[in-house]
Order: sequence, then C-alpha cells, then structure tokens
Amino acid sequence: MDDKENDERTGATNKNLSEAGEFADLTIECIDCETDFVWTIGEQEFFRDKGLKHAPKRCRGCKKAKTERIAEGSRAAREGTLKIEVKVVCDACRAETTVPFYPSQGRPVLCRSCFLAEDRKI
Ligand SMILES: [Zn+2]
Ligand SMILES: [Zn+2]
Repeated sequence: MDDKENDERTGATNKNLSEAGEFADLTIECIDCETDFVWTIGEQEFFRDKGLKHAPKRCRGCKKAKTERIAEGSRAAREGTLKIEVKVVCDACRAETTVPFYPSQGRPVLCRSCFLAEDRKI
C-alpha cells in the first residue's frame, strides 16, 4: 500500500516536470544588492502574460525600495518639497557650499552668507 502511494507520487512529479518544459525557476543576481534571488515559474508566466521580455534585475526587496524611491521622488516633486543639494563654490568668498537649486550655467552662485550680504547691499 505504502509502496504504491510512493510510486504514484513519483510519477506525478515526473509528469509535472516534463509538462513545465519551457519554464523553470531561474536564479538571478540582483543588480542592487548582488544577492541571488529566484525568479519563479509563476512570476515568469506573469511576465509573459504582461508581454514583458526582460527578466527582472532586482530582488523583491530592492524592487520595492526602488519603487518607493521613485514614488517618494515624484511625490516630493509634486509637492515642491524635493530636497536638492548641489555642491558649488561661492563666487564671492570661494567657499564650498551647497545650494538647494541647480545653478544655471555662467551665473554666479553665492553661499548663504554672501547671498544675504549681497541682498542687504541692494
Ligand atoms: Zn536586491
Ligand atoms: Zn560666500
């Protein structure tokens, strides 16, 4: 009785394997954290259904982190709260400083104290 059950199970497994054929779990190295992750048959079928041709490049965690980064970035851009820090050299005192905007080419950039001093002069 036990033997028969085992045989049936083995037979079923073999059948599934041959039927799966083109699909098999794939191991992919995440481009962000360099950890191997498994791209499962189910996910591959999902990709094919969506018409996607390229395998995922990131593991689940990094994909989520990337999605959140993008969402955070677009949310901040929409609300105008995106914090940008651009490294510049002050045109007046030559001190290295950061400004919360992208300076236009050829325009002098002043550090905060020089900017305020300049402001007072006018
Ligand atoms: Zn990763
Ligand atoms: Zn300055």
